[in-house]
Amino acid sequence: MSRTKTPANIPYPTHTVEDYLMTMYVMERDQGEIIAARLAEMLNVSPATVAMTFKRMERDRWIVGKGHQGVHLTPTGQAAARSVIRRHMLTEWMLLRMLKVPLSQTHEEAHKIEHAISPELEERMRENLDNPQVCPHGNPLPGFEKVAAAWVALPDLKAGESVIIRRIHEFAEDNRDLMKFMAENGIVPGAKAKIADVLPFNQTVTLVVSGKRVTIGFPAARYIFVETE
Ligand SMILES: [Zn+2]
Ligand SMILES: [Zn+2]
Repeated sequence: MSRTKTPANIPYPTHTVEDYLMTMYVMERDQGEIIAARLAEMLNVSPATVAMTFKRMERDRWIVGKGHQGVHLTPTGQAAARSVIRRHMLTEWMLLRMLKVPLSQTHEEAHKIEHAISPELEERMRENLDNPQVCPHGNPLPGFEKVAAAWVALPDLKAGESVIIRRIHEFAEDNRDLMKFMAENGIVPGAKAKIADVLPFNQTVTLVVSGKRVTIGFPAARYIFVETE
């Protein structure tokens, strides 16, 4: 698979558009819709900026629709989103494996590099990184969503279950403090854990990881997916 070929009359996406497409793709994939206010929050821009960017993206046919129907990626927009997500995830692996960048920093660093990767370089990275199906945080590369399908979010577990941490959702990767907290507490893909309790009235999950108890609120816990043993 090479990088998306866009029709001659459509420009390549700018860095900004690639950032939007990436986040919008994940939103549509996991939540079924794109919420402009949430997007503004996640990209750390004002709602007015999002509205303006949407206009340009619509003009350039990356997205369609507004009003009651909501905004959606066009097939071209989806292909461009998949392309930048792949480049992002391969870059994370490169940073982690070759440059030994700590897992909690790979996402941020990859964000700066992903836009500059050519289709040829992407292909080389894929080969040299042994065709990964998920990023270092366990998020599936586009086309490999099945790999993650059986993993369960922490709030859906029961006390006493033994699990293996498999995935920290893309949207948690964006939260530097949360990533740091998880790294400090050993909540990383591949780590074994035991569920000590799940308290819906308290909106918390408590895990035991390497003999240490860690309590996480539901909003963050929903971003952590595990394989049950
Ligand atoms: Zn990332
Ligand atoms: Zn990642």
